[in-house]
Amino acid sequence: MNPFRRVLTWAVVRLGGLRVIRVIANVFELKTGKNGHLGFPFIKRRRRHGVQILVYHRVNDEKDLIFPGIPTKAFAEQMEYVAEHYTVCSLSETVQRIQSEDLPAELLTITFDDGYRDNYENAFPILTRLGLPATIFLATDAIDSGRTLWHDRVFHALRESRASALEKFGDKGQTYPLNTPAERRHALAQVLKFLWSLEDRDKCLWIERLFQELRVGDSVSREGLMLSWDDIRAMSEHRISFGAHTVTHPILSKIPPRRVRQEILESKEIIEANLKTQVKHFAYPVGRREDFTDAVKKQLRDAAFDCAVTTIFGSNDSQQDLFELRRATPWDEDVDSFALRLSYFKFVSC
Ligand SMILES: [Zn+2]
Repeated sequence: MNPFRRVLTWAVVRLGGLRVIRVIANVFELKTGKNGHLGFPFIKRRRRHGVQILVYHRVNDEKDLIFPGIPTKAFAEQMEYVAEHYTVCSLSETVQRIQSEDLPAELLTITFDDGYRDNYENAFPILTRLGLPATIFLATDAIDSGRTLWHDRVFHALRESRASALEKFGDKGQTYPLNTPAERRHALAQVLKFLWSLEDRDKCLWIERLFQELRVGDSVSREGLMLSWDDIRAMSEHRISFGAHTVTHPILSKIPPRRVRQEILESKEIIEANLKTQVKHFAYPVGRREDFTDAVKKQLRDAAFDCAVTTIFGSNDSQQDLFELRRATPWDEDVDSFALRLSYFKFVSC
């Protein structure tokens, strides 16, 4: 964050601005019309509250330049803030509260996607110390196997390559320089955007091509990157629950219905067999509006899931479709910005 914004944020919080913003967000909401545009006089009295669901991926101090996790200390400060100022409830309780229209102000749920081992090493002790519940969504193929999910292979290629550029890549044949960490992150963002747009078979072919172009060995095995079943069982003894996130993390709108069914059911069955408990929650891989369909939602209902979370930004009020729950990623590391942004999220969503 630039120093000016950091000082401004610090001053707003220290001078009581955060308290004012929290009160405003709890009493008022943005007034938007059916087309989503702001309507005069821009704010209106809040009619109902919504639950905010946070999504994290990695929590560590590795300072990875390609796919950085949130530092452990920053995560601890964020969790201390929500423990003090929010009612933090499990995803199961959130679903029940949405169904029974019992949503108090400042309700919050914590989730993690994919199942990285640092969730156990770094996040779990903090959550346990504070008595906070959380849900971790597992892509089961990578759990306890040493295998890596496809996006981790893409991160690996861009992290390890010694090439100075990725030449003529994607449908527009673009060239991306790779001389600085910022250039590599830009290339990664563009490569992911392209891969997300492809049917699954084409995506796999382009990932192979990426490894060839970047002259990186294709055997990506990172022992210890993902959780083991022992880690998962240990956490499940506490307030950590687990949801399904498919087997191989495909984009469900880009694979045939038969494979959707297999990815959904198999991941559910594997977790249930290992934990001896029913799995009721699902997270769509990538999770944008275009990454799942009504047919996918129906398959989840048929498989006895009771909710599915997206990465579509927003809060969830009692009208929210339980198979399209909104989430927000708290990118801010410093706790003042995190606190302000949480209240801002609430003000601009529901
Ligand atoms: Zn994921």
